[in-house]
Amino acid sequence: MSDVDKRLTIIYGDTPKEMTAKLLEAVDMKSLIKKGASARIGIKPNLVNATPPEKGATTHPEIVEAVILYLQASGFRDIVILEGSWVGANTQTAFRTLGYDRLAETYGVRLLDTKRDAFVQKSYNGITMEISKTALELDFLIDIPVLKGHCQTLVTGALKNLKGIISDREKRHFHTLGLHKPIACLNRIISADFSIVDGICGDLDFEEGGNPVQMNRIFGGTDPVLVDAYIAQTMGYRPEEIGYLKLSADYGVGSADLSGAEIVELNKDTGKVKDSPSRIVKELSAYTAAEDACSACFANLIQALMRLKDEGGLARFGENKIAIGQGYRGKSLSCPGIGNCTSEFASHVSGCPPHTPEILDYLSYY
Ligand code: SF4
Repeated sequence: MSDVDKRLTIIYGDTPKEMTAKLLEAVDMKSLIKKGASARIGIKPNLVNATPPEKGATTHPEIVEAVILYLQASGFRDIVILEGSWVGANTQTAFRTLGYDRLAETYGVRLLDTKRDAFVQKSYNGITMEISKTALELDFLIDIPVLKGHCQTLVTGALKNLKGIISDREKRHFHTLGLHKPIACLNRIISADFSIVDGICGDLDFEEGGNPVQMNRIFGGTDPVLVDAYIAQTMGYRPEEIGYLKLSADYGVGSADLSGAEIVELNKDTGKVKDSPSRIVKELSAYTAAEDACSACFANLIQALMRLKDEGGLARFGENKIAIGQGYRGKSLSCPGIGNCTSEFASHVSGCPPHTPEILDYLSYY
């Protein structure tokens, strides 16, 4: 595994286009495209359905726009955006609703509904599957999943996002096989060369959106397994709890070992928490007392509270609100405190922002 593969680069904020442009410059993506200007490049967003990105399910088109602008400014011309929505949803409707058709027209790139592509049969480890011919012919695949939960696989990210390049028949087949093994096999046959995770406001627990959490971050790396391990950790899971992640590592797609990863943060989040339309986020927020909390910090707390809720460990915080935010600096209180801003409290979890696993550990033993 090279040093580049061990690196995850993160940028915080709520301006997807500018953030993506900075991220691409920081990782020097053009240097990763070994074939040079003639390379056939695929951009694979997540358009599971035709809902706007604010609902927490789909990739923000501004991220894809920034990728196209970067690639074209770097001399790359052969670019295709490719996606096939989930079974029962119309990809063309998603393209129109989210503005991907206008994006393709404006920048002169191809837009492919993979449901209409030709498919090639490929096999790995006893599973044969139909994969988009166009996807298989690419020289460089940029995968742009959304950081979100999933009712069956717990999380969904770079590895699972490649389900959009198989046929609808194959998507159904994957479900009969329990998802984990076929997803890992698919990624052994074809995997992303670079993954950019849209973590602006992914869904807390469902692939189709509806419970968006303001997360204010975009991150990326060359190893999709490491990227997904980071997604799992951000959502309060251990990577080994996610079946397809563990299998992908076993099959040699990449490494799920975050202890060996180099995490490069390009900035600190300074955004403020916005009101969430989600019922579950409101319900979890009721356990907190936020005073000028940064959005990334608050999002990590919400993810930790969601895991505590799953484990039945929330009740003891009913009266004892969890304090978070810059308004607590210099204050000495006895309630639980999140982040360095609460360092004068009787007890707190340190970090700026503290990560979800540390918050979860702290609250679990509080
Ligand atoms: S610890 Fe304080 S300053 Fe740091 S991210 Fe959290 S709220 Fe913001």
